[in-house]
Amino acid sequence: MANVTLRNVRKTYPGGFEAIKGVNVDVGDGQFCVLVGPSGCGKSTLLRMVAGLETVTGGEIDIGGRVVNQVEPADRDIAMVFQNYALYPHMSVFNNMAYGLRNRGMKEAEIKTRVEEAARVLELSAMLERKPRQLSGGQRQRVAMGRAIVRQPKVFLFDEPLSNLDAKLRIAMRVEIRKLQRRLKTTSVYVTHDQLEAMTLADILVVMNGGQVEQIGNPLAIYEKPATTFVASFIGAPPMNLMSMRTEEIKSQLGGSAGEAGILGIRPEDFVITDQTPAGGVALPLTIEAIERVGAETFIYGSRAQDEQRVAATPGELPPGEVIVRIPGTEAPAIGEKIRVAAVRQK
Ligand code: ATP
Repeated sequence: MANVTLRNVRKTYPGGFEAIKGVNVDVGDGQFCVLVGPSGCGKSTLLRMVAGLETVTGGEIDIGGRVVNQVEPADRDIAMVFQNYALYPHMSVFNNMAYGLRNRGMKEAEIKTRVEEAARVLELSAMLERKPRQLSGGQRQRVAMGRAIVRQPKVFLFDEPLSNLDAKLRIAMRVEIRKLQRRLKTTSVYVTHDQLEAMTLADILVVMNGGQVEQIGNPLAIYEKPATTFVASFIGAPPMNLMSMRTEEIKSQLGGSAGEAGILGIRPEDFVITDQTPAGGVALPLTIEAIERVGAETFIYGSRAQDEQRVAATPGELPPGEVIVRIPGTEAPAIGEKIRVAAVRQK
């Protein structure tokens, strides 16, 4: 069993900067955990601590029931796949994959078996004699994964492995990685700043901000019920519409009690264009300012009419008065038109 458990993990860099401020995460055996968050939130630092490439200032890192804080990276039974896959240019694909095993003194026959098996899984069998420069970006990335797979580690660690690939290849490799992990059932921790990658890969999603965990759980559950406005605006593209509401509005529209104030969040896809105000829902009059047709769907950027502006955007979240609506298809009203949109409250 290779659970990865972080208990109150902290990191202060020399010079005093506190990059990780007490993080608790429990990744079960065979699960795929994704750490996601904006640049500088500490996700690479956390991953590097699991790998043993950074010292731990406080707390415990436990891999497979063993606290590894003081264990050398090579003895942690992990394999890491990096962003710049760092293949040896002068070596064949076979030798690139075999390199780490040879370093450990493994017998050639066993190395051959492992490399050939990994090459088969990664569909690289026909390319074992090629040099990295004779491969496409995606194939190189697969070789980098092959190097991790042949070691048969307890845990895979991925540090933004797809960020050097173009958009189309990223999507293809994202699917590959997930299929591969399902087949190998190796516990994985994966770092990305791409929320779509995070949503689609994760069994457990850890949303980080400022060295702390904002929310942790199943990705769809986080999408449905973000715990904080940070999570609400970070997960989902375009982001959730966040509107601060005054007491009387909360009371009249959402059935809250007097004295409450809060932030109302509505996903762009939860709006419909309608003249009705649904029971238990909210309706907003909008003037259309911009339209983006992307094929299967259309994004409408509207501003709330001045006289009807009963809601104001939270500072720093959305431009004042702007609401994003997502509708299926390409049929949309024209720029400058006034429409009404409504959304029903979700429990
Ligand atoms: P990115 O997506 O940009 O890679 P990240 O979430 O992975 O960001 P980290 O690289 O973990 O972020 O960095 C977290 C914070 O720690 C940042 O503010 C960074 O400047 C700081 N930091 C990283 N390495 C060091 C270091 N060696 N010394 C001091 N501060 C550091």
